[in-house]
Amino acid sequence: MEKGTSYFGVRDPRHAERDLDRFADRGLDAVLHTFSERDQRYYAETMADLVAASHERDQRVYVNPWGVGRVFGGEALSEFIGHNPDSRQRLSTGERVPAACFNDPTFREFVREWTRDAVDLGADVVFWDEPHWFAPEWHDEEVPDSAWTCRCGACRERFEDEYGESMPETETERVAEFREASLRSFLEEMMALVREKGAENAVCLLPGDSAEHGLTDWTTLAESDHLDVLATDPYWAAFDEELEPFVREYTERVVSLADEYDLESQIWIQGFALPDEGAPEQVRRATRIAVEGGADSVFMWGWDACRVISSIGTDDHDAVWNAYLDALPDE
Ligand SMILES: [Zn+2]
Repeated sequence: MEKGTSYFGVRDPRHAERDLDRFADRGLDAVLHTFSERDQRYYAETMADLVAASHERDQRVYVNPWGVGRVFGGEALSEFIGHNPDSRQRLSTGERVPAACFNDPTFREFVREWTRDAVDLGADVVFWDEPHWFAPEWHDEEVPDSAWTCRCGACRERFEDEYGESMPETETERVAEFREASLRSFLEEMMALVREKGAENAVCLLPGDSAEHGLTDWTTLAESDHLDVLATDPYWAAFDEELEPFVREYTERVVSLADEYDLESQIWIQGFALPDEGAPEQVRRATRIAVEGGADSVFMWGWDACRVISSIGTDDHDAVWNAYLDALPDE
């Protein structure tokens, strides 16, 4: 079984190497290096050094589009949406929201460039992390209940090409189907590029079956010719779910789909924003469920239980991190 953690917040290779050594000493053989818009613009060679340092320690390297366009997961900002306000998603009520549109041609070109740069770092796997449409409930903005994304010019044009009718203002079944197909087509295009350049693809779907948060039918992704690793992140405390059934259900889901479609299965363990009481024990239980459930790969988000991100860190970070490491099998 592969064992890993995400790594971020340190861009000095001398410092990072000490952390990577520590991970290797504790048996981790995979690392996800976050690769934000800022990293792409200002730290590309530094990032290539971090990737090389991981490879020197026999770690399989994943790289993710951290917060890119604000349509992937992550505590990173997007300069793209500031420079390209017309590439943002548009609510059905007309307002723009602070997230890029998957159908916008400028954003697609931007992500193609990000993808080339990500593989050029030396990444083994590009990790498409929580791709999602703008979800009003995750943000403070006052948005009417019936509002939905995206009804920008690019989406309306594509919808019309596809269905031969103009895009409705209400959220019909066809709109939901279109949104999901749009996300899949975006991922297919980027995953094909990754494969062409000789790396592999992982997609991490948010748990749940909503089209805004990902895909209603995970099979449509699992059957992609370009996919290698099917992942999900059943973060029980973040989603306010009961730990055991939640982690078990999603472990079973990715393991069985991965078996059926000859993919690797991967489960992420919540190592941030945990309750003050009992966090290490929760992490131990969740990790064991993923391991016993037969996941091919288990990761924690993130290293040292996000000690260095105060907005989501956990008081008990050392105990949480060690609980994760201790619950992993030796081999
Ligand atoms: Zn759009």
